[in-house]
Amino acid sequence: MVRRTTRARNTVRFDSKATLLAGGAEVRAGRYQRASQDKKEQGKSVGDQGKLNVAEINRNGWTASATFTDNDRSASRHATKERPQFELLMDAIRAGKFDVLVVWEISRNQRDLAVYVQIRDLCTEVGLNFWLVGGVLYDLRDKNDRMMLGFQAVQAEWLADSIRDNVLRGIVGAAEAGRPHGKVTYGYRRIYHTRTRALERQEPDTEIRQATAADGMVSEFSHAGVVREIFEKVTGGTPLVTIEDDLNARGIPSPEGSAWRRGVIRKMALNPAYIGKRVLRGEVIGDGMWDGLVSEDSYWAAVRLLQDPSRTTTRAGRAVHLLSYIVTCSVCGGPTSKQSVNRRGWTGELYSCLKKRCAAAPMDILDEYVQRAVVAWLSRPDIYEVLTAQTATDADVSHARAEATRLRTDLEDWRKLAESGDVTPISFARAEKGLLAQIAEHDARAAEAGIPPVLRGRIGAEAVAAWAELGDEVAVKRDIIRLVADIRLIPAGKGNRRPFGRHRLDWRWKFGKEHDDVAA
Ligand SMILES: [Zn+2]
Repeated sequence: MVRRTTRARNTVRFDSKATLLAGGAEVRAGRYQRASQDKKEQGKSVGDQGKLNVAEINRNGWTASATFTDNDRSASRHATKERPQFELLMDAIRAGKFDVLVVWEISRNQRDLAVYVQIRDLCTEVGLNFWLVGGVLYDLRDKNDRMMLGFQAVQAEWLADSIRDNVLRGIVGAAEAGRPHGKVTYGYRRIYHTRTRALERQEPDTEIRQATAADGMVSEFSHAGVVREIFEKVTGGTPLVTIEDDLNARGIPSPEGSAWRRGVIRKMALNPAYIGKRVLRGEVIGDGMWDGLVSEDSYWAAVRLLQDPSRTTTRAGRAVHLLSYIVTCSVCGGPTSKQSVNRRGWTGELYSCLKKRCAAAPMDILDEYVQRAVVAWLSRPDIYEVLTAQTATDADVSHARAEATRLRTDLEDWRKLAESGDVTPISFARAEKGLLAQIAEHDARAAEAGIPPVLRGRIGAEAVAAWAELGDEVAVKRDIIRLVADIRLIPAGKGNRRPFGRHRLDWRWKFGKEHDDVAA
């Protein structure tokens, strides 16, 4: 057997896993699919293996250079007119035709195993050092990697524990290719080929539909529009029950065609399909073939908000009064609530100590005073630091910061490799681009993580306009006030004619210095 030694060429092209992963289209990938020789072993069909291998090659941005499929179980026993694919694969490896071999799984069956051992020995000999097996990259020169490959070949658990079990075979095949399956996600529609009926794409369902409210009022909506509206409201702090009421009041049917329920809205706002992700058994397993309906920022803000343990879903959604139960009595510590008063010619509404009537203040005046003070505080130029200082130890923030630091170190390593000529300028440029994007993302996450979701987009220069825009959304305003301030009402004192003012409130901000002045 004539063997050309191509070791030098392969090792020069890509010397490490990192350079291979950053190599993009320069990397030539050969893939090999093989039907199991053992009928009892429930491996994946060669078709599914092929799809999964292609998905892996695409995910890494490599160039698919050749493919070999051994489908015929009896090929080894009968003389065939064609040379077995296995032989062609061995020839291609010998000729140095690729930089990485992509296979989906390595059989436990002894006869199949012998085949892989042969391929592996040849690869080692010619310097084809990289194997991508089931999405994991191995370097045959690394003794740990060789051991892991060995484990795969002999351990039954490997197949049993992995998602690659037989039941899910078809689903995983489609999932890996990013294709949707099952019921169409509300907000999307699927476009099929008119003749073959094959799925061509999944896209936002922007069809304009009409809804008739109970009072006969007709309005227009689209499924995609409803999804976006739900995310906008959730991230804006609107309680689920308010969103539910609003959709039902407009007569818009739910995904099941009935009335909306909170649970359905919540599930939608937590569904990663809306940022274009493919989910299997509750886990994101990759990018779908469709585009997101909402931004990733919006999605993750919704997730944070809905999974915030301090948010109670049973809370009354429509609090009519801005400050009931938020402002407390400075004397007895009890809550205040609305009290209608008609005495000595004055008719109006008060916030009044609920239990003992120790203190009271006119509702309209207190509402206005508190809102002014809160908006002035939210408008402060240093509000970012004030809000994030307190939560600097927050796990999210520290994690994001650590990640950004680690990525910066990676980038430095790349720079050194590029300077010493160990990686090509093209590889470096590619790696740098990817790393910089990731660093920026983690920095942004670290900066935002300390800001409670309900305050995002409502602080600093945006505070005044954002508050005005909230209008009658009392529930959101209450969330904000409760979050930032602790307010107690002080009795006016008998015969005191001083107009309502700062002296009537014992006010503490929950962020920053404890005794900040209330500017109002
Ligand atoms: Zn009281």
